[in-house]
Amino acid sequence: MAIKQLLKRTSGWLYLNSSVGRQQLHGAGVILMLHRVLPNDRAADLPHRNELCVGPKAFEHLLVWLKKHFDCVPLMEILQPGSLRSERPKVTLTFDDGWRDNAVHAFPLLQKYQVPASIFLSTDFIGSRQRFWWESIGETLWNSHGEKARLHLIECLQQMGRPLPVLCDDPDVQRRSLALLHFLQNLKTLSPVDLNRLTDECPQESLPQALDWHQVRSLEASGLVRFGPHGASHAILTGLDDQRLDEELSRSRQALLNSCNRPLPVYCYPNGDNDERVRQHVAEHHFPFALGTGTGIYRGNCDPLALPRFGVSQRTARNPELLSWRIYRGGRP
Ligand SMILES: [Zn+2]
Repeated sequence: MAIKQLLKRTSGWLYLNSSVGRQQLHGAGVILMLHRVLPNDRAADLPHRNELCVGPKAFEHLLVWLKKHFDCVPLMEILQPGSLRSERPKVTLTFDDGWRDNAVHAFPLLQKYQVPASIFLSTDFIGSRQRFWWESIGETLWNSHGEKARLHLIECLQQMGRPLPVLCDDPDVQRRSLALLHFLQNLKTLSPVDLNRLTDECPQESLPQALDWHQVRSLEASGLVRFGPHGASHAILTGLDDQRLDEELSRSRQALLNSCNRPLPVYCYPNGDNDERVRQHVAEHHFPFALGTGTGIYRGNCDPLALPRFGVSQRTARNPELLSWRIYRGGRP
């Protein structure tokens, strides 16, 4: 292990176990952001998946570690704390997008350890075969759907003026995956229409990527999971005009009201992107709280419409001391 990482892990451990750390986190809440839990850890280790995916072993390791150091509470217990004060800092888990694997791979572990979670749904995707572009394009280029599909997509990309860099053919798996990660990040500058067109060129998976409403209702019925909106189409809200912004907000809100018993009064911005105009519209659509992707600890004194979170990658789930190091960095007044 690199020295730098070892130092971070050690200081993270020291922080959580010191009186300074305990004092700093007293009465504070930590909101964690996850996306997917894959069927195996080897797949999640690759750089192009590491940020948005964790494996089941790493996820279980994270849950055990969280239970040891924190009170694992529902999100609303952090945002609107009850009268029960605890000595231990609070943590809550949030999942973005609404991936099917949240029900299949994450939920059994949440249940095993009785850890509550909130899942934020991009509601157009729920119960449909609509796909998230970065997943479909990324996995097709990674050759998860066969060489023919990969070559076809590369040709389409070339026609769009986005040729695949040679590094994406590197024989070394890590380097190849890293090159793919950078390529996918650059694709974010394409228009949503172009990204959808490319996604349509990717083969369909055997199962939908997203949860269906039946799964949503059964997770909610467990009492362990609550749901909130994460856009309808996952469009970046800051890029929409007022009318389209209002459409996204009301469509996603309505979908949750129609299908959930107790939808969360919390919006979750796709990609975390928000500005003053977006926050104002979110408030007008009856959301007193919204989650961004800025890093920090929640102390009740930050903008309730731009709540900070800590992203959890496969790397941090496997080494949660790295997370406590980041909490320490984000927690210093
Ligand atoms: Zn998202």
